[in-house]
Amino acid sequence: MSKDIKTICPYCGVGCGVVMKKINNNKYSSIGDKTHPANFGRLCIKGSKLSETLSTEYRLKQPQINGKEVKWDDALEYTAQKFQESIKNYGANSVAFYVSGQLLSEDYYIANKLMKGFIGTSNIDTNSRLCMSSSVAGHKRAFGSDTVAGSYEDFDYATLIILAGSNMAYSHPVVFQRIKQAKLNNPTLKIISIDPRITATDEIVDLHLAINAGSDGFLFNTLLGYLYDNDLMDNDFTSNHTNNLKEVIENLKKYDYSIEKTCEICEISLKDMKKFIYYFTTNDKVVTIYSQGINQSSSGTDKVNAIINCHLATKKIGKIGSSAFSITGQPNAMGGREVGGLANQLASHMDFEKNDIDRVQRFWEAPNIATQEGLKALDMFDAILKKQIKAIWIIHTNPAVSMPQSGIIKKALEICDFVAVSDIIEHNDTNRYANVLFPALAWGEKDGTITNSDRTISRQKKFIDNSKDINAKADWEIIQEVARKMGFKREFNYKNSYDIFIEHCKLSAFENQKPTLKNPNYKLRDFNLSALSKISLKQYDNLKPIQWPVIDENGTKRMFEDYKFFTYNQKANFISITPKLPMLKTNKQYPFVFNNGRERNQWHTMGRTSKSSTLIKHIDEPYIALNEKDIQKYELKENELVNVYNDLSSITLRLTTDNNLKPNH
Ligand code: SF4
Repeated sequence: MSKDIKTICPYCGVGCGVVMKKINNNKYSSIGDKTHPANFGRLCIKGSKLSETLSTEYRLKQPQINGKEVKWDDALEYTAQKFQESIKNYGANSVAFYVSGQLLSEDYYIANKLMKGFIGTSNIDTNSRLCMSSSVAGHKRAFGSDTVAGSYEDFDYATLIILAGSNMAYSHPVVFQRIKQAKLNNPTLKIISIDPRITATDEIVDLHLAINAGSDGFLFNTLLGYLYDNDLMDNDFTSNHTNNLKEVIENLKKYDYSIEKTCEICEISLKDMKKFIYYFTTNDKVVTIYSQGINQSSSGTDKVNAIINCHLATKKIGKIGSSAFSITGQPNAMGGREVGGLANQLASHMDFEKNDIDRVQRFWEAPNIATQEGLKALDMFDAILKKQIKAIWIIHTNPAVSMPQSGIIKKALEICDFVAVSDIIEHNDTNRYANVLFPALAWGEKDGTITNSDRTISRQKKFIDNSKDINAKADWEIIQEVARKMGFKREFNYKNSYDIFIEHCKLSAFENQKPTLKNPNYKLRDFNLSALSKISLKQYDNLKPIQWPVIDENGTKRMFEDYKFFTYNQKANFISITPKLPMLKTNKQYPFVFNNGRERNQWHTMGRTSKSSTLIKHIDEPYIALNEKDIQKYELKENELVNVYNDLSSITLRLTTDNNLKPNH
């Protein structure tokens, strides 16, 4: 292949367009795609060094059974047989898939269809649960649908941007650059960061609220109370387009939400709190961008709704420059939500309501459709420990490292009767527990679509062929072949990712309209790709980035512009929140609360990024940081290896000093 290929960066949820330019035989360079609306040509260092990660070194090259290389057919047959045995002996709920936001939507779709439509259990969950399932639940409670209302474009028009629980300079660098540029274009733009740590993001920030870890819910609830007490809500909007405000205010009054009390809980100054409220109440175009700092919490969903409540109260939604915006961690976390890759979704933004089950069953002609939610990520591994799940297939994720309570996860993998893993790398912490290893195609070798944080669907394209060195298959193909060997030959007969994409689009549009007298069971859903369901293979190959819903050729930049939501009466719901501090408390034995965060130049457990000699120069291993006062107090030394543990897990990390962290007290 000689021409430049437009594709999508495989790392974070910004979803930047990348142009891969061929230099010679196996050498490429990556530059930003100037036409892609997510980045308009910008790339962060990870995206610009993608070409350094393309080598086949460390790759899993051939399927393996119990550590021995085998033929594809043997590995597929063995896996199908193990799953069938388990289902026969212990029922469908004895098997599970643990998948990933690294999958393409087509791969995700077929995995979900096999599990929920044909095996007959909803035991499929994804590592995206760890990053944004709180947002999914919060959206559904408020809007009746898992809808990200805004668009990246709103960041260019906002007059106030609140970054809640996000070190954006490291986690979503290109959005950070975009906001930095927006501030240069408009110096009156105010930026607030809500984060216990001072981070690189502070470079562009006007106000930093270094709240106590996990106290965000108190902050936003107090903002809501202030809006109410001072008659600063948009009363027309709340009366005509929202439900439950009265109940929410009554609930709020049950506790002391005064500014003073909240400052005490969050440990911020009265002056800063007042400034925060002043900025929010004096700006009309406000975007609150929130990320893992909000989502990863024992009360993450409530925090999401605490933020959305404030936006609903002031009509800061559904218009240019205004929204509560969940920014996803992984490249295709959103695509996973679209197909229904979480254990508590059925498919295509449908749940386990009677009509949804019936609709999806008819569409898939599914013999054995799941009728209730399955086990979610952590519960799945817990069920392995309880011997309820006997066979698991892990696809493109490394739970032995990346799941919380990793000690429990490792123990579960050790005792599980059958573990299959699909990955691109041969050795990682999870693969060592695998009975079967499937070598999957890597980024650059595979083809499909992903959806970024602002609902933009983009094509990820194949531009290299490593088949001489690597005997790998596309994920959809591996799943399809196992499905066929389990007896579902007719229903899993896709020729390519295009076939799957078209079916995915058709399902999204199937009976997706308001109920009528003739068809009372129809349901209007936010996720609808009807205009893409008839595109040709050539149009699929050349698909330009487009934001869903795609009901016409333009897609949809912004949702809820008509202030109609997907609830029973088309009004958005205020949700009553009783804010809570984190479930785990410090004590004498466990004196520290640690936040986890991303490194700018590395991704996940470094499987791909560690291959780049440039990226590895910045930080080459995970570390733990403490304020120097704590290092002295606990008689530790900078750079020594320390063991960090709680009742559930432990990890050994190198200690560094970071005086931007608050000292423990
Ligand atoms: Fe890739 Fe994210 Fe960097 Fe964009 S910001 S180039 S998507 S890692």
